[in-house]
Amino acid sequence: MRNKVDFHLHSTASDGVLSPSALAACAHASGVRLCALTDHDTTAGLAEMAAAATELGLATVSGIELSSAWQGRDIHIVGLGFDAGHPAIQAAVEARSAQRKARMATIADRLDRAGAPGTEAMARLQGLTHPTRTHLARTLVDMGVAADMPAAFARWLGRGRAGHVRTEWPSIEATVQSITLGGGVAVLAHPLRYTLSAGQRRTLVSHFRSAGGTALEIVTGGVAGHHIETALGLALRNGLEGSSGSDCHDPALPWHRPGRLATLPEAVVPVWHRWGATLHAALEI
Ligand code: AMP
Ligand code: MN
Ligand code: MN
Ligand code: MN
Repeated sequence: MRNKVDFHLHSTASDGVLSPSALAACAHASGVRLCALTDHDTTAGLAEMAAAATELGLATVSGIELSSAWQGRDIHIVGLGFDAGHPAIQAAVEARSAQRKARMATIADRLDRAGAPGTEAMARLQGLTHPTRTHLARTLVDMGVAADMPAAFARWLGRGRAGHVRTEWPSIEATVQSITLGGGVAVLAHPLRYTLSAGQRRTLVSHFRSAGGTALEIVTGGVAGHHIETALGLALRNGLEGSSGSDCHDPALPWHRPGRLATLPEAVVPVWHRWGATLHAALEI
């Protein structure tokens, strides 16, 4: 399984383990020729990624994974190809930074009351502009409070646990609009990973389309073949383009290595068609 395009990657600018330049090197070494860094709610790593990629002959487009909400659930929307300096993008980034900091304080408080050292863990994350639950989970592991990351989520931070705080992220409409105003296109991330019935998932995808969304992330890290078929059907029924991305946070995890992905089914228009002949040449397609 190899794919030359990876439009879903995380760096140390949010909750990934590699710096943007180390991630560019890793992606290039894995055979990726076109990628986007899509950190959670931040564009802070994009300049470093672009500079390192240029050195390597790796083509990039700007990226971000914006937190959004729909019917009380966290929904992730990847933005691609926007102008990172555009006020609409920076407003989206700053609003979520404030939300993330406030939410972390609430999580810390809840953990304290549940008997875990939330405030102490939070103190180690002070410098982060966009703290995530991943950062907190890693800290709980470092402090010996949880055995590993999955355990930290299962016991403390996942849905229904003491440290799970419902966050009023911006709506799908507002999120797509931020990306579109910034000159980019919106991709609904990992559509099969949300806890939804098949009917709810169909409603989500058509809602995303009506809100101005462009593409569906049909191929994503670690999914089964039938998930690709399901996502392909959703994209085709809604007139959406298709995207692929590993959602790599740590290349040591084999199923989330950059570019370690099935190829996008030919029946759908790839979202990368819009980045022109140069990129097609880089991809040799
Ligand atoms: P947040 O955006 O702060 O809610 O954090 C969400 C991030 O936590 C996701 O992007 C994942 O990287 C990570 N995450 C969520 N659930 C788990 C889990 N069960 N095990 C490990 N990481 C998780
Ligand atoms: Mn993450
Ligand atoms: Mn996500
Ligand atoms: Mn992601």
